[in-house]
This record gives sequence, structure tokens and C-alpha cells, in this order.
Amino acid sequence: MRLGERMTVLILGGTATARDLADRLAAAGIPAVSSLAGRTSEPRLPAGPVRSGGFGGPEGLALYLREHRIAAIVDATHPFAAQMTEHAVRAAAMTGTPVLLVTRPGWSAHPHAPTWTWVDGHRQAAATAKAFEGPVLLTVGRQSLPSYVEALGERSVVARVADPSHLVTPPDWQLVVARGPFEMNAERNLLRDHGCMVLVSKDSGGTETAAKLDAAHELGVRVIMVRRPATPAGVDTTHDLDRALAWCRRTVG
Ligand code: NAP
Repeated sequence: MRLGERMTVLILGGTATARDLADRLAAAGIPAVSSLAGRTSEPRLPAGPVRSGGFGGPEGLALYLREHRIAAIVDATHPFAAQMTEHAVRAAAMTGTPVLLVTRPGWSAHPHAPTWTWVDGHRQAAATAKAFEGPVLLTVGRQSLPSYVEALGERSVVARVADPSHLVTPPDWQLVVARGPFEMNAERNLLRDHGCMVLVSKDSGGTETAAKLDAAHELGVRVIMVRRPATPAGVDTTHDLDRALAWCRRTVG
């Protein structure tokens, strides 16, 4: 796709934050193209032009930036999409393109956060869940489920995923296919109906999927929280979409 002659913002997306930003840029008349990884069969599409699929590493992204006259990158990918973020930062450095990282705040300041078991990565989460008793609700995303099979393959597990495509899970696991936002009542019922005693979550942050944390607290369900991967040092970062919009306006000119 060749875009028009005006310099364009590349939004690395796949999140509600990225869709909100695309809406704001469209409303402000700032040219932008959103990029999706292309793994979800029916993605929620943002406003404006969209491209889909990997770029082919940092070099491929650098080529894309040059070919499409990209003036700035806003990385609004999920906080756990660490590879894409790293590639964005490297491609930005190769081409001299300004880059802004937009993330939603994590749940470390959540009122129940001190009661959770915080772990570094899915392997540690799986080992921790194995050590706790009772059925487990996994809300870690389709791609991370394989990390739990060795530890929890024989256990009673409910795995909630947004997209079940190409997913093979152990026979005792139950799949629940659903996309947020999730309400407190539904989260309470899900945990209660399956008798879950353990909830595993990533520190995705935001409000759309936070009701499970309150429901778990209310029902005495143990919460295992996977810490976010570190973000690359020295990159301009914000949680604030107004600030991101102002940054784009300034950068694109
Ligand atoms: P990842 O591991 O960081 O990225 C793996 C590769 O996928 C990247 O190197 C890149 O391929 C491609 N890719 C990722 N995001 C892309 C994007 N927005 N546009 C074009 N290519 C992209 O990413 P992930 O964790 O698999 O997440 C994939 C997508 O799902 C992201 O867009 C993310 O925002 C969204 N998402 C992720 C999660 C999560 O928990 N990880 C949750 C909700 C939504 P190349 O190296 O070939 O460029």
C-alpha cells in the first residue's frame, strides 16, 4: 500500500488503546495507518487505513518506514507484545524515526495487588498454579497456553481465549471463548460455576478485563499475576492519549 504524500504516523496496534488513538488521529485530521499482527481471524478494526502482518523483523520495518514516508511510530501494542516493541525501537533507531510508547497503566497499584502472587513469566506462573489446590482459570491469552500444559495438563483448567483458532489443549481443559470487556457478574459466575480456586492473569492493566480481579477477591480465589516484560530504556513513554495526540501533532507537523 502506498499512502499519500503527507507524512504519516504508524500506529502499531492490536489493542483498544491503539483503536482509541486511531480514532483521535482521524478526528484531528492527522494521517495515520494502523498495523495489526494479523493473527486474529476477526480483528476489531480501527478507524482509517489498516495494514496487516509482520514486517519481517526490524530491517523489514525500517524498509516499511522509508517506503511509506512514516514520520513517527506510536507503539500502542499490548504490554506483553515485547518483541514488536523491541523491533519498533530498533527500526526507529535505524531510520531516525521518532517513536512513542503508549501503554495503559498496569495493575500494580490495584487495591488487591498486595494479595496476589506476582511472578516473572508464564513458566513461573504455571509452577505456582500447580502448587495451589483446585481448578484454575487461565486468562493469559491463546499464545501463552502451551507454557501451562506441562504443569497443569492433568488438572482441571478453564482457559479463556478470544480466538480458539489452531488451539489444541489437554482433554481435561475446558475452553471458554469470549472477548472483553467483561462484567463483574459474569466474572463471578464464571469463577463460581467452574469452582475455580486459582486465577492466572497477565498484568495487562486497564479496566476492560479488571472485573475478574474483584470477583476473585470476593470469592477468595488466589490470583497469580504475571509481571510485564521490561520496556526498552530511553524510549518516550506515556499512558495518556491526549499526550500521545499532542506528540503526533508536534512530530508530524
Ligand atoms: P510479539 O510477540 O511482540 O510480536 C511477534 C511478531 O509479530 C513481531 O516481531 C512482528 O513480526 C509481529 N507483530 C506483532 N505485533 C504487530 C503489529 N501490531 N503489526 C505488525 N506486526 C506485528 O507480539 P504478540 O504478543 O504476539 O502480539 C501480537 C499482536 O497482538 C500485537 O499487535 C498486540 O498488540 C496484540 N495483542 C497481544 C496480546 C498479548 O498478550 N501479547 C494481547 C492482546 C493483543 P515481524 O518481526 O515480522 O515484524
